[in-house]
Amino acid sequence: MNLLLYGAPGSGKGTQANMLRSHFGIPHIATGDMLRAEIAAETDLGRQAQPILAAGKYVSDDIMIGIVRNRVIYLKVPVDDLLHRLSGRLVCPTCQRTYPPGTARCEADGSPLIQREDDRAEAVRPRIEIYLEKTVPVLDHYRGGGLVSEIDGRGTIEEISRHVLAAVNGRVAKTQKTA
Ligand SMILES: [Zn+2]
Repeated sequence: MNLLLYGAPGSGKGTQANMLRSHFGIPHIATGDMLRAEIAAETDLGRQAQPILAAGKYVSDDIMIGIVRNRVIYLKVPVDDLLHRLSGRLVCPTCQRTYPPGTARCEADGSPLIQREDDRAEAVRPRIEIYLEKTVPVLDHYRGGGLVSEIDGRGTIEEISRHVLAAVNGRVAKTQKTA
């Protein structure tokens, strides 16, 4: 049972991963390592992913969560919005929460916020372009199997979370009905 959560830098992927993790009680979130484990175990997911990974088309920081069998959620955010979100974004060095520009300290632990080197404006656009270049073929691959749910990544965190959960739960319900 696996859910793949895709989203460009700044898409809110980390926030939604945390939401899914607490909603479904998933103990941890792995990165590309989980996919390599799938390949080693020759699961269906591993067999699908192996040629993509072998072709260097897989993005290693994509987040995979063990809840739903081979389902793909893509948080889609227009490039201009991503640029706006990432430029000037601040991060807590202790807990990695992110904050908008102008925030002084982390709400959770009071640490002074810093700007990541790769969140500086000039570094942001190439990161997004590389991500999209690598991710689009992966999504196309999964789309062929009707596995991809595209979620509009704009709006409040609560709205987006509702859409993500609806997509995950809808697929679970549909799977159970036809099983
Ligand atoms: Zn913090």
